Amino acid sequence: MIPVFVDTFFPNGSPLHWRQAEDGAVELYPIPDHARFSPNRQFTHWHLRLHVPPGTPPGTLAVRIAKVMNCWNGREAPAMSRKFVRGVVSADGIAWSGLDGCASDREGFAAEFAVPVAGGVVHFATLVPYTEADLERLLARLGRSPLARVYNLGSTVEGRALPFFELGRADAPESVFLRARAHPWETGGSWLIEGLVDRLLDGSAASQALLDGVRFCVQPMANRDGVNRGMSRFTVTGMDLNRDWHPAVPHDPVLAPENAVLALWFAEQHRLGRIPRLAIDLHNDDGGNLHFSHPTRDPEAFVARQARFEELLREHTWFTEGHTAAGFHNAGTFGEGLSEQYGINAFIWELRATQADGLGRQPLAADWKQLGAAFVEVAARYLRETA
Ligand SMILES: [Zn+2]
Repeated sequence: MIPVFVDTFFPNGSPLHWRQAEDGAVELYPIPDHARFSPNRQFTHWHLRLHVPPGTPPGTLAVRIAKVMNCWNGREAPAMSRKFVRGVVSADGIAWSGLDGCASDREGFAAEFAVPVAGGVVHFATLVPYTEADLERLLARLGRSPLARVYNLGSTVEGRALPFFELGRADAPESVFLRARAHPWETGGSWLIEGLVDRLLDGSAASQALLDGVRFCVQPMANRDGVNRGMSRFTVTGMDLNRDWHPAVPHDPVLAPENAVLALWFAEQHRLGRIPRLAIDLHNDDGGNLHFSHPTRDPEAFVARQARFEELLREHTWFTEGHTAAGFHNAGTFGEGLSEQYGINAFIWELRATQADGLGRQPLAADWKQLGAAFVEVAARYLRETA
């Protein structure tokens, strides 16, 4: 049997226990994160490094992930019960490829993977990781561009800076807002934003014209503490940053400063008459739907605009998933709260994590970047056509 060491002691490494079983398999016992004063808890994120002794010949390592019960809005459900059991692996932490696993029929285990090992270490994660180091690289690049304005909105519970950036003319007639990583495991939104930045800073006349007309406003990593600690959903105070968005009810500045400062940003934009007409909170899940809530003010016009957004997305990108059913409500979510408060088209976009039917395979970082580049056109057309 190949002796193994599992390293999770790095930024974004997952909290878990592990052991190597008698048959040599690595058994992982993930620790879910918990909501505050609620039964809700979640394990989705894993990110670890499997070390084997130097000179170990190439082969595969059996990895088993223990059964963990998640709890969502008070309802228990087993983690990893999704249709596709998939992860990603990398030899260097930079180039990642997809890895299919399978449901486990062993007592106490949810999933099994045969992880290829060649060389001393293999990186293994749920989705292609996007860490604070990636964020810092992005911010440094934006800082060198005359087209970008980078600033901090405030700090997280643990005192980490909460960066924010704007691309496009400061007095552009239209604004779009994007947020990523309200839930730390959901890296798709981070990669989408990277693709959007690549496109907008490509130096083309088309991009310059876009930036004259539209200001793109981005909070790139909302739950930065959770990303650092390798958590799945909640913050270190047990808050869900996609909850408690109720009109006229302020966020708790101590328990959820990440939301409190963002709500102030929206209030200030509203005061200045510069509120974005399109605001999207980027997530990942297994369904991949656009979560269209139904606000009380002018719901027909709201739904018609949402439908146009979806059409444009289908026309310009590989998006083929759908949207939530008519009458869908999820009170307190980002989309529902901001739509209700400001009458803007705000919603959740769940990027499908494990399978993209439009690609016929599991989406990886480059696919989400491509989506981000194409989104620029979608947003510009949406704003033009719904003005
Ligand atoms: Zn989410």
